[in-house]
Amino acid sequence: MTRHEHMDSRGGGFVPGLVSGMAATAKQLVRPPHTAEYPDVAPELPARSRGVIALIDNNCTSCMLCARECPDWCIYIESHKEEVPPTTEGGRTRQRNVLDNFSIDFSLCMYCGICVEVCPFDALFWSPQFEYAETDIRDLLHEKDRLGQWVEEVPAPPELDPAAADAPEVTAANRPTRRGRT
Ligand code: SF4
Ligand code: SF4
Repeated sequence: MTRHEHMDSRGGGFVPGLVSGMAATAKQLVRPPHTAEYPDVAPELPARSRGVIALIDNNCTSCMLCARECPDWCIYIESHKEEVPPTTEGGRTRQRNVLDNFSIDFSLCMYCGICVEVCPFDALFWSPQFEYAETDIRDLLHEKDRLGQWVEEVPAPPELDPAAADAPEVTAANRPTRRGRT
């Protein structure tokens, strides 16, 4: 069986294919052109676009997980330890990390999103904002304050699925307490 015979046997063929191709071309010819008019008109980007990374520094515990997992080594964190006095009499003094500096070098970042995914404390978020080009590459190093300013641009999270199961923490909190032994 030749190729044409095989196509004809499947209901295709040269002429119908040609007609359908020309119909698609004609449709495109009459369609009004769509020109992106950026920067006069801002593009409508999907809410979860990876534009820039925002930092909520109060959530950051300086655990260094994001910096260790970043494949480009472009996250720089400085912190120091602080003693927290006991809250009860006879309790122990604890230590906690205090974040001094957190910066991301966007001239090295490849926007993989690993840092946002691995942060266990919801300190990093994507914002769709992309208008931060610089003429000096050194200005693409965003320090803690600048990363914090991007938080305003982070879109609200999507609504929860009403049919979704409760999170394990909610289930545990709603579990009835056991009666103590008498
Ligand atoms: S998006 Fe990827 S490359 Fe950029 S800072 Fe995060 S982990 Fe590093
Ligand atoms: S993973 Fe999150 S909490 Fe840990 S250092 Fe990075 S931003 Fe801070």
